[in-house]
Amino acid sequence: MIQWKTVKPDSGAAKLADVLSGLPFLDAMSITALLIKGPLVLFDTEARLAVHRHVSARREESGGLLLGQAFMPCELTTAVSYPLVVISKAVPSHEYHGTSVSLQMGSSVWEVARMQVESKLLVVGWFHSHPNLGAFFSGTDRKTQRDFFFHPYSTGYVVDPVRDEHAFFLGAESFQIPEDKVTPVHAAVLSRVESAMACEASSRGK
Ligand SMILES: [Zn+2]
Repeated sequence: MIQWKTVKPDSGAAKLADVLSGLPFLDAMSITALLIKGPLVLFDTEARLAVHRHVSARREESGGLLLGQAFMPCELTTAVSYPLVVISKAVPSHEYHGTSVSLQMGSSVWEVARMQVESKLLVVGWFHSHPNLGAFFSGTDRKTQRDFFFHPYSTGYVVDPVRDEHAFFLGAESFQIPEDKVTPVHAAVLSRVESAMACEASSRGK
């Protein structure tokens, strides 16, 4: 088991303005319009299915990591002050143990996450289940979020597979995101966002 404390903070969030400038005009306009009202999470439908398959197969609490990309508003873009989070992959942990003092996940989930991070995906958050307890963040979950998933884009996803309840929390203070701010997207749309991100990354490297 690996203590989650070994994770180094991600610092790879891109500037939102740079990403929007690389998107087709209508995509950029609609994303901007939504981000004026609040944070936005784009959740790949396959990744969300992977979460559900994993947690539905278990009676006990289970969880894993969420990987993807995060776009932070540029300071100059005064109209938009919320992050855009893209969740493109879920990595279930086959050993998962949340206690009041620490969150432990198996070494394999960390190994997979490390490989994905090398291919430019960030750990954008985590997910776990509350079988038949309801989808909410407990005091322990808030502490886990504050200690380990404290970036403005860090997303905590809790799902009760028995009652079919879902809840999303963002940032160090576990601000709850309304379900309608979590938009299911297919890989094709994500790849457009990701290619905009790639332009951003290569221009940063100059
Ligand atoms: Zn919990």
